[in-house]
Amino acid sequence: MIFNSSRSMYNILRDYLEFFTEESCGQCTPCRVGCQQLLKGIEAVKKGQKAPGYLNDLKKLSATMKIAAKCGLGQSVSNPFNSIIDNFREEVIY
Ligand code: SF4
Repeated sequence: MIFNSSRSMYNILRDYLEFFTEESCGQCTPCRVGCQQLLKGIEAVKKGQKAPGYLNDLKKLSATMKIAAKCGLGQSVSNPFNSIIDNFREEVIY
């Protein structure tokens, strides 16, 4: 996917997480709960309700999802999540 510099990487990440949360079938806990917690977590950091360091906890959660989710959907959430957090952390926080 290609985005120009006018796009908010926070909004793109939120859109990804809304998609994964919606599409999760709910069969396994890492994906069902993990998708919801990642989405709630970035929203909380953006609103200042959680410290920026909370993103590191969310990265650990996404790593757990990668190895513990039952199928490719839950296992792939960490790919866009880590890419955006690692490369556009400031945009997610501020
Ligand atoms: S990882 Fe797959 S099986 Fe597990 S809840 Fe997500 S979509 Fe369902």
